[in-house]
Amino acid sequence: MRFLSTLLKTAVEFALPPRCPICGVTVEADNRFCLSCWQDLDFLDEPWCSSCGKPFAFAQGKDAQCASCLKERPEHDGVRSVAAYDDKSSLLPMRLKYGARLGLAELIGQHMVRFLHEVPADALIVPVPLHRWRLWSRGYNQSVLIGRALSKQSGLDMTSDILTRKNATPPLRSMSVKKRRTIVNRAFWISPKMVGSIAGKTIILVDDVYTTGSTANACAKLLKKSGAAKVLVFCWARVLTDYDKA
Ligand SMILES: [Zn+2]
Ligand SMILES: [Zn+2]
Repeated sequence: MRFLSTLLKTAVEFALPPRCPICGVTVEADNRFCLSCWQDLDFLDEPWCSSCGKPFAFAQGKDAQCASCLKERPEHDGVRSVAAYDDKSSLLPMRLKYGARLGLAELIGQHMVRFLHEVPADALIVPVPLHRWRLWSRGYNQSVLIGRALSKQSGLDMTSDILTRKNATPPLRSMSVKKRRTIVNRAFWISPKMVGSIAGKTIILVDDVYTTGSTANACAKLLKKSGAAKVLVFCWARVLTDYDKA
């Protein structure tokens, strides 16, 4: 049934004129923003922190790190986020998550292509897994959809069998860093049988939104323990707290 309703939604999407995925006005072609939303979106680019990819207002040198990375380096090797998380950019993952708007995954995948020059040709796309209950109730994992779109765009392989989510995690934002870390570190697992397939590889860890970084860090830690050489996080939007937009 779920599959049928997804199919139906996709068919409806095709039948309607293309619309801006944020405000809904008619646009020229599929997977395009209207000019006004395009201008409002805060697309992120260099210069950024060499450890976590947090954008800097001004270039500070190739190896410069942001204050939080100077305090503690993240487990991953950088976040490549298409846009800053705000009222507008947050609508896309929300609609993808709860509305099965499959075209949105394509759109996000297309925007991630600009980060691919940093990764080798044998890099592997690994989507952040959903717990099976959540997967069952929703019918699909939005990160898998984005990962699949990126794989189609780039020709890079994607595997959703490496990382497994053992526990469903509660909302993490209001928890202390320590508590968050303990919960999330216990949530993921890599089967010893899969370890060979990631040894020495660059992993593109795909998620829709990067908020506290706890999930990405837990996944990166595990992937590296299992032999991955590098883990870059690709996401659509990133929450930036002390970010100077100047
Ligand atoms: Zn718009
Ligand atoms: Zn940083």
